[in-house]
Amino acid sequence: EMEDERNSQASQLFENFVQASTCKGTLQAFGVLCRQLELDPADHQGFYSSLKAAVTSWKAKALWTKLDKRASHKEYKKGQACTDTRCLIIGSGPCGLRTAIEMALLGAKVVVIEKRDTFSRNNVLHLWPFTIHDLRNLGAKKFYGKFCAGAIDHISKCIRQLQLILLKVSLIVGVEVHVNVEFLSLLEPSEEQGSDGLGWRAEIRPAGHPISDYEFDVLIGADGRRSTLDGFRRKEFRGKLAIAITANFVNRNTTAEAKVEEISGVAFIFNQKFFLELKEETGIDLENIVYYKDNTHYFVMTAKKQSLLDKGVIIHDYIETERLLHSDNVNQEALLSYAREAADFGTNYQLPSLDYAINHYGQPDVAMFDFTCMYASENAALIREKSSRQLLVALVGDSLLEPFWPMGTGCARGFLAAFDTAWMVQGWAQGKEPLEILSERESIYRLLPQTTAENIMKNFEQYTIDPATRYPNLNSSCVRPHQVRHLYINGEQSSCSVERGGPTRRSVNITRRESEVRPSRLLLWCQKQTQGYRGVDVTDLTTSWKSGLALCALIHRQRPDLIDFDSLNEADCARNNQLAFEVAERAFGIQPLITGKEMAAVQEPDKLVMVLYLSKFYEMFRNSSL
Ligand code: FAD
Repeated sequence: EMEDERNSQASQLFENFVQASTCKGTLQAFGVLCRQLELDPADHQGFYSSLKAAVTSWKAKALWTKLDKRASHKEYKKGQACTDTRCLIIGSGPCGLRTAIEMALLGAKVVVIEKRDTFSRNNVLHLWPFTIHDLRNLGAKKFYGKFCAGAIDHISKCIRQLQLILLKVSLIVGVEVHVNVEFLSLLEPSEEQGSDGLGWRAEIRPAGHPISDYEFDVLIGADGRRSTLDGFRRKEFRGKLAIAITANFVNRNTTAEAKVEEISGVAFIFNQKFFLELKEETGIDLENIVYYKDNTHYFVMTAKKQSLLDKGVIIHDYIETERLLHSDNVNQEALLSYAREAADFGTNYQLPSLDYAINHYGQPDVAMFDFTCMYASENAALIREKSSRQLLVALVGDSLLEPFWPMGTGCARGFLAAFDTAWMVQGWAQGKEPLEILSERESIYRLLPQTTAENIMKNFEQYTIDPATRYPNLNSSCVRPHQVRHLYINGEQSSCSVERGGPTRRSVNITRRESEVRPSRLLLWCQKQTQGYRGVDVTDLTTSWKSGLALCALIHRQRPDLIDFDSLNEADCARNNQLAFEVAERAFGIQPLITGKEMAAVQEPDKLVMVLYLSKFYEMFRNSSL
């Protein structure tokens, strides 16, 4: 009888945890569950099986079956693949948590820190079929009965629900989650050699928090689009101007409303007639529109700037999008009617009343987002070494590749990168060579921006962390180890702090660094790098570079695939230089200081300009010199 009572108490405590509807509530219910059942969450490897043994209700068992199935993937080696790995993840967004689950299944010790303690985003989510499949396999429906119950299969509730599901699964598989803990910076291992020295740690806020002492050898940045991790160069895509508008209208759940069909995403290219009619009738010019029926009637549309100007939604036309969409420059009333009119037309005027839902600021729930300038990290991972301790650093989610989320790419590509990262960590734990690990990761990362719901492998049941199960045209060695030497950073901090941030910061860095590289050392290094190239003889930091061949050689030495050196014509000074400038900017993020034409026009290249420019190559490649 005692046994029965204990069982039913355990089931109830577990049920409270499963049903918790906030982040804080979940963590509290989890704490109570662990205390009452005397489970030790710090025992990350044994936790899941202890919990399983303690909670045996049919409902819990159904979840265990799902999770056992996932955990049986051969890549995890029965949870023994990464037993010595200690991992810190920054951010408990969907992608940070999804990564945490994979790391835990590999047997790693995983700590997630999150600066907030609420999950507040309420947007309806558009998800790719594989993402839904993945979440179902993690037991999403057990946590949230209504998961993907809508008419269009690839819809879930909202980011908040998704985060809650992933938070609960993370805790179950032994991940440690700390809220109200903010990552500030990475701390290097202390100098002492041997076992006494401390390993890699994080500076966090609040300062005295126990996690300040946590030592780790894998660090994952999942802190969203404003990533804080140093060492990752961000590249910017300036796309065609597209402005996304989201709008939520009250759903009174009437029969009339129930009848209206959802729109799973109509893009201009697929239904030009629809958009032309919309424009003719209303002056509204859209590129696509999505409508989901949920707690609210939720619309996402991407609008052309000109029509927003014409309809008085945007007041002045500014080049900088920040100014363009600033609240001072937006006529809120006009925006409300614009989105309402579009929603009305899109649903063929069948929704009886389009009253705006009220958001958590007490305002009608409409918002505009700018997709004209999107960011991606140039690289997905790097390795740092200090005091003979290595640290693998990786980015996932929006930190890695900012999504055009109206198409559902946020979570989809985010989860793919989570799996790819787990795969890399697994290789790292198996003792693969650092450059091999990094080059494989970069090869796989190159596929990510091209991956769509259509071109990904269709057999979702076969998906594992092994990229070969997911990407059809995988070539995991298209980036070669010698091309990622700059991502293996050892030695002093100066070589670590590859700059991040906008142009102001960048130019400050150039000047500061310039004084650090003595021209003679720079010259020696350049000579070594360009030795043996046809038509190249570096004797100084000025005239030797005039033809552009030396610059091309410098690049070719690092990345032979980028420049066809043999095809260059020594006499075509403007072209050679321009080519080198463009390639270096694109491939390494090194910004040109002058143009090829300007170079051709001068007798002797300016020494300061050349030292500044060449120093950047030196900074980037000196540790990887051939
Ligand atoms: P985030 O969700 O941004 O999470 C990052 C977390 O890190 C945050 O919780 C933050 O508090 C925390 N953090 C930041 N800095 C620190 C620090 N220094 N220390 C500790 N913690 C830190 N995607 C889709 O796939 N489909 C959709 O339909 C969709 N709709 C969207 C609608 C809107 C309005 C918006 C804004 C986004 C939408 N997205 C959608 C995008 C989706 O939300 C993101 O792609 C996804 O949330 C990215 O997850 P993430 O884990 O990378 O980052």
